[in-house]
Amino acid sequence: MKVVLVTGGTGLVGKAIENVIEDEKPKNEKWIFVGSKDADLCDKESTRKLFDEHKPTHVIHLAAMVGGLFHNMSHNLDFLRNNIHINDNVLHTAHEYNVAKVVSCLSTCIFPDKTSYPIDETMVHNGPPHPSNYGYSYAKRLIDIANKGYYDQHNRMYTSVIPCNVFGPHDNFHPSASHVIPGLMRRLYDLCKNGNTEDKVFTVLGSGKPLRQFIYSRDLAKLIIWVLREYNSGLPIILSVDEAQEKSIAQVAETLAQTFNFKGKVVYDTSAADGQYKKTASNAKLRRYLPDFHFTPFDQAIKETVDWYIKNYDQARN
Ligand code: NDP
Repeated sequence: MKVVLVTGGTGLVGKAIENVIEDEKPKNEKWIFVGSKDADLCDKESTRKLFDEHKPTHVIHLAAMVGGLFHNMSHNLDFLRNNIHINDNVLHTAHEYNVAKVVSCLSTCIFPDKTSYPIDETMVHNGPPHPSNYGYSYAKRLIDIANKGYYDQHNRMYTSVIPCNVFGPHDNFHPSASHVIPGLMRRLYDLCKNGNTEDKVFTVLGSGKPLRQFIYSRDLAKLIIWVLREYNSGLPIILSVDEAQEKSIAQVAETLAQTFNFKGKVVYDTSAADGQYKKTASNAKLRRYLPDFHFTPFDQAIKETVDWYIKNYDQARN
């Protein structure tokens, strides 16, 4: 029997994996989803207690201090230190408890700032990250280095996935600590909650020009489960939609405004930072394994997320 421990199991990606597993009901796997209330992974003893209690054979390691552009810019040191502690505690405790496989999460936003496009898995360490999120980026890059070390020194199959921007139910909708999609959703929700929106202004921070690839959390969940079961390499794999599915922030804002039935004006505040202009990632490696994987169309995934948010506003992370 496989015992799969999912750290960060209460977050956006963790909840999506939990939902997919609930639908699947796998017979020979026991899945355990934990959040910060179950253990503070910044703390070694707390991490040990968690592993001692559940005795996992496999770990999906999602727990991290995560935030959008503006939160990262003002807290780079916290992102660096917390994530270094969390990752070292989880990986080393997994090793101590003889865990056969660990799948950890990097991100496409940790790639070098100055690079050629599309980005692929071989380029993670090729230059400094964008200055806005260097703390998060270097902490994440070290996971890949540690995975190599655990393989070289102890023959462990500890690997990583590199998702593009994720969105979906259970995201963090906090006005100042959220990613772009949940941040814009929160603002639209507030603008639309009292009905008539014709004379309202929906302000989008930045020029609206930057390009991003967005993956729906349920699609990412299915792919991470596949990595856990089928992908047997310590080298990272990018989990992203196709390059053709890249969207500008303006396209995202317009899609969201339509989905909320917002009738007012959409305005771009160009005095706010844009972050990296683009970070187009290639999913060619993933496509070699799963050429037919079907990504949920963006508009449908946005509609499902907006419907979830409106229905669950009171319990959502606001
Ligand atoms: P969320 O912010 O939604 O969830 C973070 C999770 O980490 C929560 O379960 C949280 O627990 C847990 N956590 C945070 N700090 C600690 C701690 N000290 N001890 C124990 N648990 C902790 O994150 P996402 O689901 O968005 O991200 C999952 C992974 O995917 C992360 O590694 C992230 O870096 C990566 N990623 C995310 C992207 C995105 O766009 N969201 C893009 C690319 C990669 P609690 O709920 O109790 O606070």
